[in-house]
Amino acid sequence: MEGFSCIKIEELEVYAYHGVYPEENEKGQTFYVNAVLDTDTRRAGLLDELELSTNYGEVCHFITKWMQEHTCKLIEAVAEQLAYGILQTFPLVHAVELEIRKPQAPIGLPFGSVSVQIKRGWHLAYLSVGSNMGDRERYIREAIAALDAKKHTKVCRVSGLLVTKPYGGVAQEDFLNGAIEIKTLLSPIELLDALHEIEAAAGRERLVHWGPRTLDLDILFYDKLVYEDARLVIPHLDLQNRYFVLKPLAEIAPNFRHPLLGQTVSKLLEAVDSDL
Ligand code: ADP
Ligand code: MG
Repeated sequence: MEGFSCIKIEELEVYAYHGVYPEENEKGQTFYVNAVLDTDTRRAGLLDELELSTNYGEVCHFITKWMQEHTCKLIEAVAEQLAYGILQTFPLVHAVELEIRKPQAPIGLPFGSVSVQIKRGWHLAYLSVGSNMGDRERYIREAIAALDAKKHTKVCRVSGLLVTKPYGGVAQEDFLNGAIEIKTLLSPIELLDALHEIEAAAGRERLVHWGPRTLDLDILFYDKLVYEDARLVIPHLDLQNRYFVLKPLAEIAPNFRHPLLGQTVSKLLEAVDSDL
């Protein structure tokens, strides 16, 4: 909304020990790092206050220290882990583009440079959470705490919990349902795996489809992504038909627009039958 802005670091020189060959790990060599930090510089620019921006000096020292304290085989691994480290350490950076150059790589041929370049960033996702077995509130509370405890995922907002009748015609206890807003560094499939792990830790067994469960965590939206494979459909296929999903979701994201249906969550909620 404020227009484009980023902070760029070019050709930061770091002597470090990454490489597949033992002599690279012993002797070391010079690496160069280029970084583009996606960050809003508008307020810092208008008020001329460093606290409102990301200190590029600190980022350079962070990169240097990290690269010198770790020894990876691959510059792919350096790039991947460094990107996560920067995103977790500098909260105003939404995304980072990193290039790790290795101009003295042992190739045995004349060449200018080799490098790996990646872009990683925080994604906004909405989840639904439900339970209808045992201490339902505790399962939900613990799931939220488990999500927030992961370094790659932070819980931003949580709705109130709604008591609803079970769905899908299988006789069972009432459900407790809620919605969660998270920011995550995980890809959609990695996020699904992380949710399944948390479900498994809560003792969830997949016995009957739509049957009783200690914990159900579903991905509703992931940015404005439209995605489908054998394991995962985003946006969640059935969310527009489920009052117990839309009602809590509307509490935390009333104006989020469904990327396929073109309607906001609050409009979808108005249209759904509250008996569902
Ligand atoms: P449900 O959530 O429909 O009550 P399950 O939790 O047993 O049932 O999910 C069944 C499967 O649905 C999961 O193993 C998962 O692979 C798949 N699935 C497809 N899309 C999604 C999504 N958006 N969120 C969570 N699971 C999904
Ligand atoms: Mg599920």
